[in-house]
Amino acid sequence: MDVREHLKQGIHRFQTEIYPELRETYLEAVSKPQEPHTLIITCADSRIDPELITQSGPGELFVMRNIGNLVPPYGEMIGGVSSVIEYAVTALKVKHLVICGHSDCGAMKALLKPESTEKMPTVRRWLRNAEAALSVTREIAPEANMLPNLTEQNVLMQMTHAKTHPAVAGAMARGELTVGGWVYDIAKGDVRIYDDQKNKFESTVGAGA
Ligand SMILES: [Zn+2]
Repeated sequence: MDVREHLKQGIHRFQTEIYPELRETYLEAVSKPQEPHTLIITCADSRIDPELITQSGPGELFVMRNIGNLVPPYGEMIGGVSSVIEYAVTALKVKHLVICGHSDCGAMKALLKPESTEKMPTVRRWLRNAEAALSVTREIAPEANMLPNLTEQNVLMQMTHAKTHPAVAGAMARGELTVGGWVYDIAKGDVRIYDDQKNKFESTVGAGA
């Protein structure tokens, strides 16, 4: 089927089957200014669905997606990510900022295999924001286990980068914002959350409420 037709059919199904059920929720969501509680920065990977995995509705998540769930350190690259962070923290006053990496991430694989981005100079340049995570991984991870380790180290590095943004640093100092790190395992449906006391990512499977 033609892609445009496929998309149109999806929209139609949404309008006839899904929207009527959620009409009240949507009306409520637009009756006042949005007040999302969380800014989630995750990868553009087409297999990630932040609302689905957190069971969030309209108005709950402010979402920023890019290749590799990267956050350039403040001052390095003023652009999409820094504006989203500043707006979400300063104007929307989100309470939590999550960096969410994931299994089988093409960006992490590309970092491990730089020749794969030879024809993509923009992607290659963008991935420099994860270069320090790669250095750490090379020091601490066994050769056979580079990808999962790099995925975790990248989340930690981007959390560090996020804290260089003045809006984030200020809100954290006031006790109004926390910064967290997740790794989503697409095949298992697991979301491993970084525990800074234990200094490791812990599975949420079977953890309950
Ligand atoms: Zn990815």
